[in-house]
Amino acid sequence: MTPEIIEKLFPNALPSIAEIEAKYPPRSLPEGARVMRVAPSPTGKMHVGTLYQALLAERVAHQSGGVFFLRLEDTDQKREVAGAADLIINSLARYGLRIDEGVGADGQDIGLYGPYIQSQRREIYQAYAKKLLMDGLAYPCFCTAEDVDMMRKIQEKQGLRPGYYGKYAHCRHLTDEQILENLAAGKPWVLRFKSPGKYDNRIVVKDLMKGNLSMPENDMDIVLIKGDGLPTYHLAHAVDDHLMGTTHVSRGDEWLSSVPLHIQLFTALGWKPPKFAHMAPLQKLDNGNRRKLSKRHDPEASITYFWEHGYPEIAMVEYLLNLINASFEDWRKTNPEKSAFDFPMNFNKVSNTAGALFDFMKLNSISKDVVAAMTAEEVYQAVLAWAKTYNPSFADRLLAHDAYVKAILNIERGIGKKSRKDLLKWEDVENDISYFFDELYQPTLADQLALLAGLDEALIRQVAADYRAVYRYDDSKEVWFDKIKQVGAQNGFASDMKAYKADPSAYRGSVADVAKILRVLITGRVQSPDLFAIQQVMGEDRVMHRLMI
Ligand code: GLU
Repeated sequence: MTPEIIEKLFPNALPSIAEIEAKYPPRSLPEGARVMRVAPSPTGKMHVGTLYQALLAERVAHQSGGVFFLRLEDTDQKREVAGAADLIINSLARYGLRIDEGVGADGQDIGLYGPYIQSQRREIYQAYAKKLLMDGLAYPCFCTAEDVDMMRKIQEKQGLRPGYYGKYAHCRHLTDEQILENLAAGKPWVLRFKSPGKYDNRIVVKDLMKGNLSMPENDMDIVLIKGDGLPTYHLAHAVDDHLMGTTHVSRGDEWLSSVPLHIQLFTALGWKPPKFAHMAPLQKLDNGNRRKLSKRHDPEASITYFWEHGYPEIAMVEYLLNLINASFEDWRKTNPEKSAFDFPMNFNKVSNTAGALFDFMKLNSISKDVVAAMTAEEVYQAVLAWAKTYNPSFADRLLAHDAYVKAILNIERGIGKKSRKDLLKWEDVENDISYFFDELYQPTLADQLALLAGLDEALIRQVAADYRAVYRYDDSKEVWFDKIKQVGAQNGFASDMKAYKADPSAYRGSVADVAKILRVLITGRVQSPDLFAIQQVMGEDRVMHRLMI
């Protein structure tokens, strides 16, 4: 291609390759340090799978003494959504994924290998595109979207592989004169890669998660620079990951089939490709079938779902680590005190390379453990922070009764394995503790009788009255429990479980049924944390009042 054509295609002054390379010197990092990134497109919601991928990359990079950075891939400007970049930045920060470089909270670059927003790197991509043109490895293509579409249909009809390759790569064969004519006519163009590959040749692609894969060489003349002057993902990936010194690219496995192309591009530009690790997308069970967790159909695919429902951040981190690597669970058992971020992460330990199943049962159970290990003060602060955004009237209540709420949350807490495990997400707390507040506790006697089905009303009233007569706020737990037995015995309940089991027909029930009556009257539920502790926190007046039926 003549220099005249090249200048016509790229008339604007572009930085020289030497200038660019000088701005991105090789990083001086210790042996074995890995440079990894998360590179989402700011196209709307933040997918929980992006966090899952980012967590792996962040852990591997930092545990190796390397660098983790954030790059925003916004070259598809049609798909860009305002606020999406902030959501990505906030999400990483919220889950404790520290970026060393990239786009910071104020939109400013952190680090010396930027800009980290692709739309700000237009001239850099163009400089390399121009180089490929000069090296005879690229050419302008004037085919319209309709031309390409029509050709694809013809190929499909003839049972051929669809795409812009070989003899179907029409513009690859244009003469200089034809190119000049098209340019003079003002025809829009894109820049295509002149692939040196042959489809019949096979190459071995090494993937750190999927192993060695035999794949056909790429022979597609893919678009490098689009009509708007911005690069496609392929060119931007090669240029950025080279300049930014990425050593390991971990990304979604939808890119796996493009690796032969990417290797060609790196080679054409004279660079060594990074190592690749392709992760399968998160899946969910839908009517017994596994399918991809989809941003469009599944609310839980979006990270904000977990904010709205108030899942503790650390529970999400622990759950995602568990999904990445099933051995996390054993590690957690043997290292209960350690931070989840200390879990040693490694590509070759990744489980479910074919796709991990997002499972709420497991997340909830991890979340219960996480909340159980928190102090009352930590739970209070987390619930308050959540409520301020998602339930302001509850936030007001938390603030107005802070000492009382902390005492409520402190029930059965801080006692190791026996700590209460009923709380798992902040949105539930209002309902979980509602019975501590008279304004929120308004069960009817009918509701309570329904919970105590099988026991007659007169008996329940008698038990309540007898209990009121003996209840003293200052009693120790032992004395209190003896009094429950005594009230039970007065009303025909066995005070001793063994005696009850030996001859159930001799009693109306056991001491457990007496406790159940009191629990239902005091809390409106059949299950609650320790009843004695609840009464101590509620105070004598409230307890007595509830027993006045
Ligand atoms: N922007 C690409 C995506 O969202 C990033 C892939 C990569 O990490 O290289 O799929």
